Amino acid sequence: MDFDFTPAQQSFRNEVRAWLAARVPADLKGRGFAASRAGRAQVDRLREWQRALHEAGYVGIDWPREYGGRGASIMEQIILYEEMSRAQAPQPVNRSGLSMLGPTLMTHGTLAQRERHLAKILMAEEIWCQGFSEPNAGSDLANLQTRAVLDGDVYVINGQKVWTSMAHVADWGFFLVRTDPAAPKHKGITFLLIDMKTPGITVRPLTQITGEAEFNEVFLENARVPAANVVGKVNEGWGVALTTLAYERDVLTMIRHISLRTALERLVALARRTKKNGHAAADDPVLRQKIANLTIAERCLQLNGYRSLTGILKGQAPGPEGSTSKLFWSQVDQDLAEVATEVIGPYSQIEAPSEWAPDEGQWEFYCLLARGSGIRAGTSEILRNILGERVLGLPKD
Ligand SMILES: Cc1cc2nc3c(=O)[nH]c(=O)nc-3n(C[C@H](O)[C@H](O)[C@H](O)COP(=O)(O)OP(=O)(O)OC[C@H]3O[C@@H](n4cnc5c(N)ncnc54)[C@H](O)[C@@H]3O)c2cc1C
Repeated sequence: MDFDFTPAQQSFRNEVRAWLAARVPADLKGRGFAASRAGRAQVDRLREWQRALHEAGYVGIDWPREYGGRGASIMEQIILYEEMSRAQAPQPVNRSGLSMLGPTLMTHGTLAQRERHLAKILMAEEIWCQGFSEPNAGSDLANLQTRAVLDGDVYVINGQKVWTSMAHVADWGFFLVRTDPAAPKHKGITFLLIDMKTPGITVRPLTQITGEAEFNEVFLENARVPAANVVGKVNEGWGVALTTLAYERDVLTMIRHISLRTALERLVALARRTKKNGHAAADDPVLRQKIANLTIAERCLQLNGYRSLTGILKGQAPGPEGSTSKLFWSQVDQDLAEVATEVIGPYSQIEAPSEWAPDEGQWEFYCLLARGSGIRAGTSEILRNILGERVLGLPKD
């Protein structure tokens, strides 16, 4: 593994750093940390930001040029995210489209699907959501029951999805539906692109512990979707979904570690300025140890990310070992939230917009949000199963 950046990568870093220093809007700076981002007005503001990034050539950096990307390597992508974190710039809002659906369409989509969707993903002209989970299909995703029945050249869809992040502001969704109920459960599934404005779709926001309604229930009642929107082959959607999930767990993990660093830097600043018994919290030896542990953990995550990155640069597909990073990240994220609560004390429970909420209530939000880290994108228990069975070769039971 080579830890040095090439002169060309270093010059790309300098270019991005200068652009961000001049262009991050004041109202968005520092807001990517843990502020609410699910309201329609905020999403529209973030769409504008993604468009500005795209015009500067900073969205889809590792996407091929023929699809509107920059045609650079994933290294430039990582450098960009590092610099965005440094500049406290929010990440592109169309994350599911960019990180999950885009690579999936490049691998399994038709030419027509790529031409129709990829450019609009890059410009945030169309925001995407991921319609996989159902009330009885979360960890056991292949248990999904949403039915799609072919009627001429359209599929008629009936069923319910849940925890669909951003569905209330999404223009499109990538869904898993059951097209052959008689087949073994992993076999009769199809991956389908659905226009969220299709008649028969109802989106009901669910309010989370944070007070924000980032995710939703999605009801599909006789929703008619063109058969041309199937990605890959009918009844072979499970393989397509595995591509999507591998990108979610592996590539996104590198970005997660970068946002963890942003939070850690804020935590250090917070500990330095928060007084406890007449001293800065940062002078408390026990808290110092805890912050040092978090710093070591963040560094381990970075190195593990580099290990995955090396594999990807050598042309390997993301593998099950990516689960290590997601599992570890979620633990560190929750530990960090707990240490922040300890630094702040009882004030940590005060939420924005109270003037008494430290750091504009962002820690209160962060601590509650972190409870979901061990659930989304694969629960910790499931990731341990994957690591045990598929990486360590332990017996299934
Ligand atoms: C913030 C957030 C955003 C999300 N966004 C989306 C989204 O955009 N799109 C989407 O499709 N989904 C989304 N999800 C859903 C997420 O993927 C599921 O919550 C997750 O897969 C777990 O499924 P479940 O909630 O049904 O829990 P269950 O699968 O019912 O699990 C309940 C508990 O049992 C444990 N368990 C289950 N099976 C086993 C087993 N075999 N061995 C050991 N333990 C087990 C689990 O670890 C968990 O603790 C989101 C979730 C969160 C928290």
